[in-house]
Amino acid sequence: MTVLASGSKGNATIVAAGKTTLLVDAGLSCRELLRRMAATGEDPAAISAILITHEHLDHVAGLAVLARRLGIPVFFTEATHRAWVRSMTPRKTMSYGQWLENLQRERAERNGEPFRVAGDHLPAHTVQADETRETRESLEPGSGDGAVVSLAALADPEPCEPEESKATARFDPALLPAVEYFQVGQRFSIGEIDVNPFTIPHDAADPCGFVFHARTESLRMAVVTDLGYVPPNVKLALRDVDVLLLESNHDLEMLKDGPYPWSVKQRVLSRVGHLSNAATAEFLTRDYDGGAHTIVLGHLSKQNNLPDLARFAAEQAIGDRLSLLGNRIVLAGQESPLEPICL
Ligand SMILES: [Zn+2]
Ligand SMILES: [Zn+2]
Repeated sequence: MTVLASGSKGNATIVAAGKTTLLVDAGLSCRELLRRMAATGEDPAAISAILITHEHLDHVAGLAVLARRLGIPVFFTEATHRAWVRSMTPRKTMSYGQWLENLQRERAERNGEPFRVAGDHLPAHTVQADETRETRESLEPGSGDGAVVSLAALADPEPCEPEESKATARFDPALLPAVEYFQVGQRFSIGEIDVNPFTIPHDAADPCGFVFHARTESLRMAVVTDLGYVPPNVKLALRDVDVLLLESNHDLEMLKDGPYPWSVKQRVLSRVGHLSNAATAEFLTRDYDGGAHTIVLGHLSKQNNLPDLARFAAEQAIGDRLSLLGNRIVLAGQESPLEPICL
């Protein structure tokens, strides 16, 4: 397992066994994901598929561009895929002709060139505008006649994007090389890895965690972040894992006294929010079987947590089960990738 990033500004983790390499979430830009893969010795060309836990931006920010660049399938639940497509797809509509004209006018203005209308022989296709907060923030000011187009559609594509897919991607920012659906609670296999997706309580369409089972080596690795509490099905899924990436999001006191508005505090603390250090410690004390080689604490809040607090709470909870051979505790961060964890 190689954690490329973990936290509210981006999540991505590589899980590999034998000849199969999977990427869980793609929450950084394509360029940054590739940069971090290079830094950790991970070969992007080896990745067989991307699996998505849920549609929040910190888990999908670089998804479309990376998937197109690598030409690999993306695994979602159907509800998560639908929610993601909606978030990529603008609400207000305009004809493709109008949209293309806007785009060309902006280009021409930027380059100081005269602009000519291309004519209306273009297909009657509609492009819609995103109204989500992230996109509205990133809209170019004064983009004209009230027609709103999402950043994904209008902005210059990342240099990451292959030339041939740039044009189509402007048309359909949610375009992927292939989409595969799975259902939570139903195992499936990709290459040499069996995948067990399990449902988690979080405020997204159909969020899940994953347990990956390397059949040939009989090793299990789990990725579970973004959950408000640890329900029985998650406790069950996390039995007998060798590497556990588990959320330890916030310190309760820091969150309560911190700068977040009341409504956001309520959301984080809710049953569909995030696990506190105390909640993670409670799981480790009461429900965790103690059998993991490494426990990676992840999705730490920058505002409402300190790595030392998260580590201390987990170490207390592990108690005397902490040894040289097992239960090593590692903290995953936002700024840089973790060294690969190899078993
Ligand atoms: Zn998240
Ligand atoms: Zn989330």
